[in-house]
Amino acid sequence: MPDIRRIAVERVARLMEFAERHASERPELARDAVLLAMRIARKARVRIPYRYRRLFCRKCGTPFLTPGSLRVRVRARRSTHVVITCLRCGYVKRIPALREKTK
Ligand SMILES: [Zn+2]
Repeated sequence: MPDIRRIAVERVARLMEFAERHASERPELARDAVLLAMRIARKARVRIPYRYRRLFCRKCGTPFLTPGSLRVRVRARRSTHVVITCLRCGYVKRIPALREKTK
């Protein structure tokens, strides 16, 4: 049902916008909005826009917009990668740091 997915996309976008706007003064509220958006997205099988996926912990929904919410480290062992740790739930995300691609 495409209608349901379209509504889901809109609701996810609105919730993420809301979460971003209130992340610093109401982090608990923002977290609830993110978790709800992720639940809607999963159920309707829609993707959360990349821009928002980077802003929040994908496990607990904590906004990564306030100081002390995450730790970023660059690791050079094995292949160079960036490690992002959520300081609330400990979720660790590794991003390979690729050399600039020449197109
Ligand atoms: Zn987390």
